Amino acid sequence: MPQLGFIHYDVPYMKAVRTENNGHTANIQLPTTRSDAAYISGGPLPNGTTYIMESLHFHWGSKNTHGSEHVLNSERYSMEMHLLHRNTKYETVEVARNYEDGLAVLAVLYEVKANATTDFEGLNEVINVLESISEFNRSTEIDDFLLSVLLGDLDTSEFYTYAGSLTTPPCSQAVTWLVFAQPITITSSQMTRFHKLQDDHGIAMENNYRALQAKGNRKVYLRKTRRVLESTVQSPLYWELLKKLKPQEDEAADSRK
Ligand SMILES: [Zn+2]
Repeated sequence: MPQLGFIHYDVPYMKAVRTENNGHTANIQLPTTRSDAAYISGGPLPNGTTYIMESLHFHWGSKNTHGSEHVLNSERYSMEMHLLHRNTKYETVEVARNYEDGLAVLAVLYEVKANATTDFEGLNEVINVLESISEFNRSTEIDDFLLSVLLGDLDTSEFYTYAGSLTTPPCSQAVTWLVFAQPITITSSQMTRFHKLQDDHGIAMENNYRALQAKGNRKVYLRKTRRVLESTVQSPLYWELLKKLKPQEDEAADSRK
């Protein structure tokens, strides 16, 4: 499997990016114009296709011992960031979700280490604005937003990948998941800033990650060794994820607190 390619991840967005508290998470919507966009390609993605960066958001727990949606080698991490990309051959995320090559999500795991005293600087680009969106429906903008700092010096050559099925109709495999194998260490004070966000009831936003899904027959590949791993990664419910990506239509029906 080839390396993943990152296009314009190291170029700041020209337009300010919108960051919103949607009641479930801090969501950042990225520009997708021809002159102001970032892409990924390669890895397990179909040859010759590029996937455009659409949005990113975070999942975390109530304590630092859990919060990630993916579980690697039985370990749940403190937080997980999802970077949603759309295959450029489809016009919108809503269209792309109906096709097995429609979407690709990069997942980055963050681990709070009790003895970590140095912030992971890259995340402060987001953390610095969290206070201004602490309440539901609040939004703000970030100038010169740069994707590459969020990844820091993460080794992007090693990742788990699998095709994700939707669990309810249309049941298509719309998401190619790419979960970086190496977690990024952050400080507990950085994590605390996420815990201060509030949901639509003014209650602390926490445990906004999804229950694990049975692995079934899904094959999970670890890029580095090309080994087929049978039980070392467990994944969340994709349908729930996709629901969350469309908050305007589905939020009202969501009974979760
Ligand atoms: Zn997510």
